Amino acid sequence: MILHRAYKFRLYPNKVQQVLLAKTFGCVRFVYNKMLGEKIDYYNEHGKPLKNTPAGYKKEYEFLKEVDSLALANAQLNLEAAYKNFFRNKTTGFPKFKSKHRDKKSYTTNLVNGNIRIEGRFITLPKLGKVRIKQHRAIPGNYMMKSVTVSQSTSGRYHASILYEYVAEVKQAEVKAVVGLDYSMKELFISSDGNKPEYPHYYKQALCKLTRMQRALSKMKKRSSNYYKQKRRIAGLHEHIASQRKDFLHKQSLQIANAYDCVAIEDLDMKAMSQALGFGKQVADNGWGMFTSYLEYKLFERGKCLIRVDKWFPSSKTCSRCGAVKQELALSDRNYLCGCGNMLDRDENAAINIREEAKRIMASA
Ligand SMILES: [Zn+2]
Repeated sequence: MILHRAYKFRLYPNKVQQVLLAKTFGCVRFVYNKMLGEKIDYYNEHGKPLKNTPAGYKKEYEFLKEVDSLALANAQLNLEAAYKNFFRNKTTGFPKFKSKHRDKKSYTTNLVNGNIRIEGRFITLPKLGKVRIKQHRAIPGNYMMKSVTVSQSTSGRYHASILYEYVAEVKQAEVKAVVGLDYSMKELFISSDGNKPEYPHYYKQALCKLTRMQRALSKMKKRSSNYYKQKRRIAGLHEHIASQRKDFLHKQSLQIANAYDCVAIEDLDMKAMSQALGFGKQVADNGWGMFTSYLEYKLFERGKCLIRVDKWFPSSKTCSRCGAVKQELALSDRNYLCGCGNMLDRDENAAINIREEAKRIMASA
């Protein structure tokens, strides 16, 4: 089976490389917008789609020759994909022109005849040459590099997201240990064994620091140089927090994928849930979606399974010991109490029900 995996590493380009990167981001945006504009004009005039390529622009716009031509080719592919997507399902909206301020600064280049290599502390990239990279994770020897997406974040940091392809022999694991996870806004989840992860110290500290920095920003004079400096600092901290959270979610999912053969979760629609409960951003931010997607591929790689239990299954209201279903259970009831004598943490009770429902699904499959 062919699988893909992307690794994101920090890049430290020198001054010359930074200038070329800024040019490349700009050229990619330029080509994308130029081609989109021509497509629109052609369509308005002839009523059918235009096939155009970036190669045609190089004569007229000499500066395009300075940058990685694969980056421009990928800009074309992105546009074609957005275009096709629009004509296939009109819900996605017509492709938009890319804005210097609104859109992410990034471009993608491909591995062709060994043009990209990681050697020691450097990655060789087309046109840029050797760029310092902080490779904090080793790449398995059987992984084949396919493409690299170079980006610059709001705070000014550079990253390379490197996509690898590999062949994996996935042997179905025997299902012995099954665990149910109940989503929790505060702790991420509570397992049917009663375990819950704790967000690490440094993560909470960073959140406090963010609140302080935002308060300071609100007192600064808008559009002053200090104001912009503070905004960049805040963007940097946001990125730092996001990467800490990602790291935490990777560790949690790895631990569970190693410890259990089958994991059961509720199939939650996070967006609908946060809207319905009026929690807004908080639910989306706690990373459940990211966590479950990490968990899914980690289990998959090990020949293990993730079972999504129907979201209408009454996991919270059912007694995990006798099966009685309560009609009323307020969100404020933290414990599940039942006439049969069952007294459990509400989420743990739900996690057990999710686990049992998954066992039932497996048995009937
Ligand atoms: Zn009961």
